[in-house]
Parts: sequence; structure tokens; C-alpha cells
Amino acid sequence: MRFAVGGLLFEGNTFSPVIATRADFASKYLVEGDAVVARLTGTGTEVGGAIDEIGAARDEILPLIATHGGAGGRVATATTTALCEALLARIAALPPVDGIYLALHGAFVSQDSLDVDGDLLARVRGLRPTTPIVVSCDLHAHVTDAMLANCDALIGYKHYPHDDTYETGRRAVAMLRDMATGALKPALVACRIPMIAPAQNQRTRGTGPMVEVRALAESLAVGAIRDVSYFCVQPWIDAPALGWTVVVTANADGDRAAEVARAVAAAMWERRERSIVETVAPADAIRRGLATDGLVVLADASDCVGGGASGDSAIALDALLRHAPSARGAIHIADDVTACRALALQPGARLAVELGNRRDPAYGPPLAAEAVMLRAAPRHFTYAGGLMRGVEAELGDAAVLRIGGVDVLVSANACYEYADEAFAAAGIDVRAGKFVVVKNPMNYQQAYAEAAARFILDTPGPTTPNLAALPWRRIDRPIFPVDPATPGTPRLWRRGRGWTTS
Ligand SMILES: [Zn+2]
Repeated sequence: MRFAVGGLLFEGNTFSPVIATRADFASKYLVEGDAVVARLTGTGTEVGGAIDEIGAARDEILPLIATHGGAGGRVATATTTALCEALLARIAALPPVDGIYLALHGAFVSQDSLDVDGDLLARVRGLRPTTPIVVSCDLHAHVTDAMLANCDALIGYKHYPHDDTYETGRRAVAMLRDMATGALKPALVACRIPMIAPAQNQRTRGTGPMVEVRALAESLAVGAIRDVSYFCVQPWIDAPALGWTVVVTANADGDRAAEVARAVAAAMWERRERSIVETVAPADAIRRGLATDGLVVLADASDCVGGGASGDSAIALDALLRHAPSARGAIHIADDVTACRALALQPGARLAVELGNRRDPAYGPPLAAEAVMLRAAPRHFTYAGGLMRGVEAELGDAAVLRIGGVDVLVSANACYEYADEAFAAAGIDVRAGKFVVVKNPMNYQQAYAEAAARFILDTPGPTTPNLAALPWRRIDRPIFPVDPATPGTPRLWRRGRGWTTS
């Protein structure tokens, strides 16, 4: 058999002013044609999984284009157009194939569109009206009508933290193969509930509401039910029809798919109050942290690069300097101006900095401080796990400064945080310090599982866990938790029928 494989991933955030360009994609991976296989074989990416699944059956892969832009605000129109047209041109030029697999994030927003994934899939379907198309998405996809209508099956990662991207790629190709042989005649059904949530309580292993939802979904994926995927949605996209969505693929049996989708959506809705997170004022978190023995994590999730923020907030550093001026700590702040200035200096040199809050100036001025240049940091590091396992990230100009007692990794580019790869590459021994500031809502819970205390900071930013505080304009209302008394009426999508409440 012969399968075409491509990937075009970006997670948007309409509350972030940062416009992503081609460089943001190229700094992770951006490859076309045979280079897709050369670059992504052996990585933990979806395409890496697809390559192995196709190879294991001695089938043929026709690589399209594969790229991941990480997360940010919106993608520039010119970049979006160029990437989509490159993918579409390769699909238009394909010989007959048994199926097309596309790895998308499902929350790609551009300067022009809140649904780039749906726009793209509609055009792919237009080019290949009868070819089976399977799409995989991040667990935080915003699954839209256009996405559902223009593929045969849509599946998601099962896990958060996202450590099963590779397996997701294999699952997608296995479904395509079964569709090609006639063993799977996909009936696709979706069920949406009016809720969004911050990501802190969405872990799928250990304990928590999504552990229970995942177990239910797995228990229902039997018989005619081929796949049950649950999407907790990127909550910082102000777009119509935003909401947690369950997507079920059944073999022919759409009625059973609808029952399962409703059951899993109901389980999510019942657990909605447990998705709310408790935040702590930075001063209180630092005071309580100083009273504990051992490493303390300050989670500044409002500046989460992996959710689309700029990674340039100095608010947590400012709090540390005020409330624990001599404590050892570590933080990463994206600031190209300061990184470039530091690299011109010898280790040990002193400099006055105006640090951070530069890419996204909405939350305060840069932090004025006296710093010591410690050392240059590598321009690149490689992710050790998760959805970027084996992928090299580009910090660009990067240096380690000492400000007060804090080692500050300053880099031109902001980078998604999986574990502590960036700190380690820069020679910062986080565990030798008292405080580590992380800028993600979930991955730190595993990366620093041994920490004596972990606090989610009450800080402003485009990835704040306090969703009710955001200036929503386009989402469908009412929606939980912005409107606490929202009725939990589910809506069901079936091909040819659209959305109904019955
Ligand atoms: Zn995600």
C-alpha cells in the first residue's frame, strides 16, 4: 500500500500579540519530501510514528511536508499561505494513494483565520474527494465543523503530558490501512459540551479527573468502537464554538458512536469543577516556599510558551528579588536584546539590564536590575521526551546571567518547556537552588515531581489559568467557567446532520 504523510502543527493563542513566522517553524523542524523521512525517523513525533508504522508493513510512504511551529499568538498570513500551499501542491501532485495522514495541532490560528486546520482540510478534501483521510490532533485541539466534515477519522493524543505523539502517528496509519482493506468503514461522531478549562488538572496518569475520563474512554473503545478521543481544547482561543469535545470513530455503527461520545462528554462535564485551579500570589508562594525544606517550584503558567505566551515575563523574577533576595533560583526569560548584550561581555562582567516584558509588553515594563554575566549558553538543545523527543530546539543567542541569587537563562527565542532540557544545556543545576520558575501548566508536575512544594502563581499573561478574567468577545456563551451557571447541554455532530442537541 501507499500512504501520503504530512504534518503542519501550530497552537495559536488569540490573547498573545506575537505573530509567528516561518522562522518559528524552522527553529523546530520544517522539512519537505524525502527530507521528512530523513529528519523525523526515530523522533517521538507523530510523523516519526507514521514512518515506522508504514515501514513495519513494508508499505510505501509518500512524504509531503512536516513542520511544527510550536505555540504562539497567530501565524503571519504569508507564512500560513506558504506552508499550506506547499502541502497542497504536494497532495495535488500525488499519484493514486491508499490514504492520506495529516498530523495537525487543531488550534492553528493565523492573522486571517481562526480555523486554519479546517480551511486546509477542506482544500485537501477538494483535491482528493474519495481518498481516505485520517487526521490526528493534539489533545488540546479546537475541533471545528470544517475539520470534522473534511476527514474520515479524527483522533487525538490520549495523554497529557503529551508523551504519545509517536503512538498517535502509528494509530492513524493503522486506521488508514484498515480503511484501505475495507476492515474499517469509519462513522465519525462528535459531542461538544460548553466548557473550557486551564490545563493544570488535566493529567491523564496518576490521579485526577482526566485519568477517570481516559479510563472510561478506553473501556468503551471495544466492539464497533475503533477510537475514542477527548479534546480539552486550547482554552486561550477566542473563537466561536470553543468547548471540550469528544470524537468517536466507529466501524459503521454511528448510533453506537453517538452513545459513546455522549457518555464520555457527560463524564467530562460532571468533573468540571475539578478543572478549576487554585493560584497563589507570588509573594505568598515565596514566603511559604522559604518555610519549606527543599526545592520549590513557582509555576508562572500565565507565561507558558507551550500555550502561546511569549516566555518573556520577568514578573516572577521581580517577586523573587523582592521577597527572597538572597535565595538561589533559576528562571528562563526570552529577551533577544539582553542576550545579545550579554554575549559581548566576558564572564564576570557586570551589566545593567532592562529585562523581559519586551515581546509582549502588555503586562508591565522590563525589569531594571544589576546582573553579572556568568557564561554563554548553547544556541541549541535537544528534547529528551514528550512530543518533541529527539527534536532540536533553537534558543538563538543565549547566556546565563546572575541577578540577585537567581541564575537567569536569557535567550533570543522562547522555547517550549518539556522537562529541564534548556536549563541543563545552559549548565544551570536547578536542583542545587531553592526556587525554580517554570512556565508551563503541566510538564513541571513530572519534571520536578520530587519538589518540596509547588505553587501556581497568580500572575497576568495570555495563558492565565483564570479564564473568567479574559476579555472574551467571540466564544459562544454561556460557557463554564466564564459563566458559572452554564447548563451542560451537549451537542452532537454527525456527518450530514451537523450539530443537534438530541
Ligand atoms: Zn496540548
